[in-house]
Amino acid sequence: MALLRHTTGEIKERKALTVNPAKTCQPIGAMYAALGVHNCFPHSHGSQGCCAYHRSTLTRHYKEPIVAGTSSFTEGSSVFGGQSNLITAIDNIFTLYDPEIIAVHTTCLSETIGDDLMQISQKAKDDGKVPEGKVLIYASTPSYVGTHITGYSNMVKGILKGFAAKTGTPNGKLNIIPGFCEPSDMAEVRRLCAMMGIDIIMVPDTNGVVNGPLTGKYEMFPKGGATREEIASMGDSMGTVGLGRWATTDGVNFLDAEFKVPGTILGMPIGLQATDRFIETLHKLTGKPVPEAITFERGQMVDIISDYDQYLYGKKVALAGDPDQLLPLVELIVTLGMIPAYVVSGTAGKYFDDRMAELTKDVPYDCKYKCGPLADMYLLHQWIKNDPVDLLIGNTYLKYIARDEDIPLLRHGFPILDRMGHQYFPTFGYTGGMRLLEKILAAIMDRQDRDAPETRFELQM
Ligand code: SF4
Repeated sequence: MALLRHTTGEIKERKALTVNPAKTCQPIGAMYAALGVHNCFPHSHGSQGCCAYHRSTLTRHYKEPIVAGTSSFTEGSSVFGGQSNLITAIDNIFTLYDPEIIAVHTTCLSETIGDDLMQISQKAKDDGKVPEGKVLIYASTPSYVGTHITGYSNMVKGILKGFAAKTGTPNGKLNIIPGFCEPSDMAEVRRLCAMMGIDIIMVPDTNGVVNGPLTGKYEMFPKGGATREEIASMGDSMGTVGLGRWATTDGVNFLDAEFKVPGTILGMPIGLQATDRFIETLHKLTGKPVPEAITFERGQMVDIISDYDQYLYGKKVALAGDPDQLLPLVELIVTLGMIPAYVVSGTAGKYFDDRMAELTKDVPYDCKYKCGPLADMYLLHQWIKNDPVDLLIGNTYLKYIARDEDIPLLRHGFPILDRMGHQYFPTFGYTGGMRLLEKILAAIMDRQDRDAPETRFELQM
């Protein structure tokens, strides 16, 4: 905190150093995706420290015990390779915990050594360490490249490669691959599809796994998650919709290439237009009409926007997070007449720059945005030092800048370590959009009330 006070507005060109990254490590995304498969035990092939970090970050975000194994690398495995540790771990996990599936992801160390998960998995099977009917799936997730979003995407593809198949008999269902989002958002996608009468297979689906009820009884494998049978029939579906370009393109393209299941990649349905595009796509792909109940929810959101945009118009916002979340959020911010002044995403991609240019082209401000390893919260802070904003939107790590600069913070994205609600209440869809609007408005108006002189301190807006 004290160090942040030394952040200056003098921005120097950096070639390599990242300070306060707007991202986290690949295996965290892989572990989260694996939790969205029923009866699946994630396993981190690396040191205990890596696994402790992945598990604790997910545990602190979801406030649930996150189960995962580790290959527990020592000096020996670091030099000679982790095959023996992984085969022992596979044997122990199936013997002690009896999952249906083990989802192995690599780490920086095992990737640097050059451990080959395909070869080790085959050896584990040949050695009789994988019981009849049980499955190993795996994904390569070296964290010196990419981010938690890359890791999520890689494990999604690993899940599909492990199970998805085609019988040739259409199942009449639509595949949905949600990006790295909250379980509450996945539940909202399911609710909207059910309202339209669309039968879906959603992979991964962490609803009920990382946001389950307190029952007084510990369950290592909760009821939620996509089942193996569901995933196995994805090759027979009428199409696949990916929600988030960065996290789902590989999975969508895999199903298209392997099983000729046509894919559509959309942004996450956050905000009015992004949700419109999602609902329209569902309608076009399935032919199902949009029910009155969904039109009603949309109308409520439009009503809120028209009632309150006068209080939000012209307010400047700085955002940090994942591109799949940021782009629709920025679209919503612009819709509200607010200014997305500064946006950073640790996850890189040319589409981010292109889309940001498109979204901000009519905004009356020289908006700054950047993606990739050097697009960090330090840079965001420097931009803010030069010209402050009215609101911050991003994960818990932004609270230091919020405190240092005395700017309200709306927590959104991953990880959120010091608040609750994200697991249970969606920001997807029209009702989720209404919740976002409520939070944005509350942050702006609370600050206005705090700073208002006695003569302008009004009871009613
Ligand atoms: S960045 Fe690499 S070394 Fe660090 S926790 Fe992630 S996988 Fe492990």
